[in-house]
Amino acid sequence: MVEVRAQRASTPSVTVRAPAKINAYLGVGRVRDDGFHPLETVYQAVSLYDDVTVTSAEEWSVSTMVEGPHVDLSSVPDDDTNIAIRAGRALVEHHGIERAAAIEISKSIPVAGGMAGGSADAAATLVALDRLWSLGTSDDDLLAIGAELGSDVPFALVGGTATGTGRGEVVTPVEDNGSWWWVVIFNDEGLSTPSVYGAYDLLEEGDHDYRIRPAMLDALRSPGSEGLEVFLYNDLESAAFYLRPDLERAAEAALECGAIMALLSGSGPTMLAHASDADDARLIAGRLAGRGYEQTAVVHGPVAGAHVVAYS
Ligand code: ATP
Repeated sequence: MVEVRAQRASTPSVTVRAPAKINAYLGVGRVRDDGFHPLETVYQAVSLYDDVTVTSAEEWSVSTMVEGPHVDLSSVPDDDTNIAIRAGRALVEHHGIERAAAIEISKSIPVAGGMAGGSADAAATLVALDRLWSLGTSDDDLLAIGAELGSDVPFALVGGTATGTGRGEVVTPVEDNGSWWWVVIFNDEGLSTPSVYGAYDLLEEGDHDYRIRPAMLDALRSPGSEGLEVFLYNDLESAAFYLRPDLERAAEAALECGAIMALLSGSGPTMLAHASDADDARLIAGRLAGRGYEQTAVVHGPVAGAHVVAYS
């Protein structure tokens, strides 16, 4: 008993929870010279999370556990290319220290699902290691390190509802007084982000007027859960539907099942059904199950960005 206690005391760990994101609005411009597309987006963090636990170790390692049948780990690397290890190494490099950690990911966010699960893991790892090693990294530095790792990492740190510009990494929180309910419709087959942007370029999209309308921000600011639906929009939808016609059918099914609006999540293939409240969302999910869409989750937003949930 004493031995076990001593061992635990010598291996402290920190667990950080990070949310999935949806893009309530996603406007995409023409591809830039550096290969990135300029974005103008309204992110919302929703109540679907990955938990990341870190423990000091001699060498970097990562292991991932699945929480739910909609998570397929087959494309998640267990080596240095996992974005969680990349995040840990970037933090260590930033501080000029020599440390390593064992990283355990408990995954509920679908992989390659357009909900930025990898970015959530990177954000959670940054916060967890910062706390584990008491590094005192400033928020600005965490955001800058996150932006180098991936366009969606800064938002996973910030959470809530925010606009994203640049390639999505320039995050500005917006006032959101609503409680928005969504049915997330998972998809068995991943859809790679580059392939969707590739199709988007081929379809010669990208000259849209991709400005967030001030009225959308007004709708978010006003209390109550109404009025957002007319602004929900995703420029990548036609490219994703072109590659995967089944997604358009899922959108139609969601509308037939009572969704106020159906929308592609990020670059897909996850689809979102917007519901008026929690009961409505559960009703829509039940009806979707009856239509063969059994892999769904009822979530709400906005929720907090990466935050500590356990120290031991
Ligand atoms: P985005 O919209 O930002 O591209 P996504 O949700 O569509 O995100 P992710 O789940 O972040 O996609 O993963 C994309 C790819 O990144 C995966 O297919 C996998 O090969 C690789 N990857 C590396 N590390 C991770 C991780 N910790 N979790 C998930 N995928 C990871």
